[in-house]
Order: sequence, then C-alpha cells, then structure tokens
Amino acid sequence: MSQKWLTLLLLFGAALGWLLGHLFGGTAWLDTVMQMARTAFLDGLKLVIGPLILLSLISGILRLSATREMNRMGGYTLTYFLSTTALATCIGLFIVTSVHPWTDSPPISDPPPLAPGITLISPEDAGLGALFTGILKQMLVNPVAALANLNILGLVTNAVIFGLAALFVLPKESPVITAIHDLTAVVYRITGWFVMLAPLGVMGIVYNFVGALHTTLLNQLFQFALVVVAATLLHGVVILPALAWWLGGITPLRLFSAIGQPLFVALTTSSSAATLPVSMRAAELRLGVSRPTASFVLPLGATINMDGTALFEGMAAVFLAYLFNVPLSDAAIIAVFFIAMISAIGAPGIPSGSMAAMQMVMLAVGIPLEAIGLLLLIERPLDTIRTAVNVQGDLIGSVIVERLIFGKPNPGKEDLI
Ligand code: ASP
Repeated sequence: MSQKWLTLLLLFGAALGWLLGHLFGGTAWLDTVMQMARTAFLDGLKLVIGPLILLSLISGILRLSATREMNRMGGYTLTYFLSTTALATCIGLFIVTSVHPWTDSPPISDPPPLAPGITLISPEDAGLGALFTGILKQMLVNPVAALANLNILGLVTNAVIFGLAALFVLPKESPVITAIHDLTAVVYRITGWFVMLAPLGVMGIVYNFVGALHTTLLNQLFQFALVVVAATLLHGVVILPALAWWLGGITPLRLFSAIGQPLFVALTTSSSAATLPVSMRAAELRLGVSRPTASFVLPLGATINMDGTALFEGMAAVFLAYLFNVPLSDAAIIAVFFIAMISAIGAPGIPSGSMAAMQMVMLAVGIPLEAIGLLLLIERPLDTIRTAVNVQGDLIGSVIVERLIFGKPNPGKEDLI
C-alpha cells in the first residue's frame, strides 16, 4: 500500500472512530468490535517490536563491516552524528520542559497501571547510584528474558554486544550474517503488515477517546505541535547552519541555496531514504563534497542520523507523560534522552518510520501504548519538517567530514558553471 493511501486511510479511520464514538459510543457489541480493532493493531505491534529492535540493530551494526578500513572517516562521521543527535534531543527536552502551554489544562486520564518490567525509573529512585544500578539491571539480562518481557534496554544491549562480537569474529561472507540480514527483511515485512492495520487500530483508539477528545485535548495537541515545530526550526535554521559555518566553512546563505532541492524532496516525501539520491547529487554538485565522502556519510546518515526524529521523540514522551498522568522524575527524563537517541538511530528513514521506535521510549517510562493514537493525529504534518531536518543534518555532516579529512570542500561543480 502506498504511503498516500495509508495516510488517507488513517484519517478515514480516525474520522470513522470519532463518528461512531459520538453516535453509538457505549453500545456493547460496537465496544467489543472496537476493542478487537485496537488489540489487533497494538498487540500486533508488541508482537513484532522485540524481534524488530534486536534484528535491525544487529543487521545495522554488521553493515558497518564494509567500512572497517575507513576508520578516520567513520570516526568523524559517527562523532558528528552522535553529538548532533544528542544536541537535538537536549534542545527538544529543554524546550518541552520549559514551554508547555498544554499543562494549563488537566491531563486526560489517571496514571495507567505499569506492566511489570517497564518501571525503568520511578520518581523515588532519584539518587544517581540507584539510577545507574536500575539501568544496569535492565540492560544486563539474557536475550530470551529481554524478548519475553519486552525489555527495550535489554534488547538494545544484547543487540549491540552480539552485533559487535559478530562483526569482529565472522567473515563478511559468513552464512550467519546473510541469515541475519534475511531475517531482518522478513521482520520488516511483518512490521509492514501490522502497520497496514493502523487505520483500524486508529479507528478503535479514537473511538475509545471520543469522550476525552474534546476541544481542550485538540487544543493541547495543537499547542504541542506548534512547540515541536519551533524547536525543530531552532535546530534546523539556527544550530545546524551555525555548525556548518563553524566546522564546514560554509555560510548559511550558500548552504540553503545548495540544499534547497533535497529539503523540498524531504518535505514532500517524509522519507530520508527516498531523498538520498537527491541528497547525493546536491552534496557533490552544489556543496563540493567528494564522491567517497558523499557515498559514505549520506547513506549511513539516512539510516542512523535523525536529529529531527530524536528531538521529536523526546518531546513527545514528555508531552504524553503529562497527558496520561505518568510522573517523570529528572532521572526518567535522562532515560528518555538516551532511549530517544537510540530509537532515532534505529528508526528507518521512511514516512512515520519513528512511530514504531517511539514505542521504545513510551514503554521505557510507562506511557500506555494507546497514546500513540493521539500522536498519529498530528504525526503527518510534523513528519515532513523533521524529515527535512534529518536530511539537512546528513548533508551538513558530509560537508564537515569532507573539510576535516580533505581540507576545504571544492566549490560545487554547478556553482562553477
Ligand atoms: N520520516 C522520518 C525520516 O524519514 C523518520 C521519522 O521520524 O519518522 O527521516
């Protein structure tokens, strides 16, 4: 199913859920049908999220093997990716904890019961020692237990340890590596099937929220969307261009005139992966980045470097925690920071790619998965702008790496014509 259809069906599902909730909400048989729709979607996602995280992370790490020789370039690129993603997440968290007009209205529900295994950090565990011991306990579990309990930190830790060990021990042509890539493709396909249930799931979720989906809540969602846009623009229009100027020696004016095309494609497709060919062209022709740098930094960036996504996920977690009355201590915010970063690294560069990874953040701090239904209502317009910032981050990375390794980038070939 094409993304356009899925978006239309999502909107249709939401509208239908809202209408049915208004007209027939409380009818026993309809309540049961809607419950089934919710369960099919949400439990389907829960079914696939464990294997998805485990396999996609291992497979991603194993792909790095092809670039082992490119140590220096790899080092600069990863340092740039990680530090800008961390910066974006900090900006998002700082803004959402300072500017939160939606807290003038009350949350929409009582705190949900926390499932065992997802109480990563409780407000009482404020001490740093207790915090780190708690985090270590979640991380250091065997993979079977991590999968069975959907312990996200445990899954990520196991995937990273296994992936790194396999990278060092297995030869590139090992059948184990091929099997892991193949299994990952299978799990992606299964994820796609459950995502197709999203319109049904959203219908059931919105139906359930009809009582709560009053003007106040819509207002809160709108306020949140505005704050996200402001924070994303701050990162994309001020912070990243300043870095490009400082470390890449390219003025903001030249930068924006060179990357207009990929930004436009990112805004319209909401997909870093789909924008990649246009980004590669712009990097070589307009930004003067050499082919080896462009073909290393940009594909890797389209896969793991998502500033806009990390910023959004951190902000969304704090917003949803308020709406669902889930207390977040300072320690929990630190956990949100790390998990938002990791889940943005793991999110695929496709439209709404971060919605599956967003659940990692939600599960980790005990936000009910139903909350994703609310995010989906404002998700599409926000995805356009965060994808543009994701792509911009990759392009700026290619300029900076080029300068650090080869000196100043050449003037773009098209600029010479
Ligand atoms: N659409 C984003 C991208 O392709 C991923 C996401 O944040 O959903 O970069």
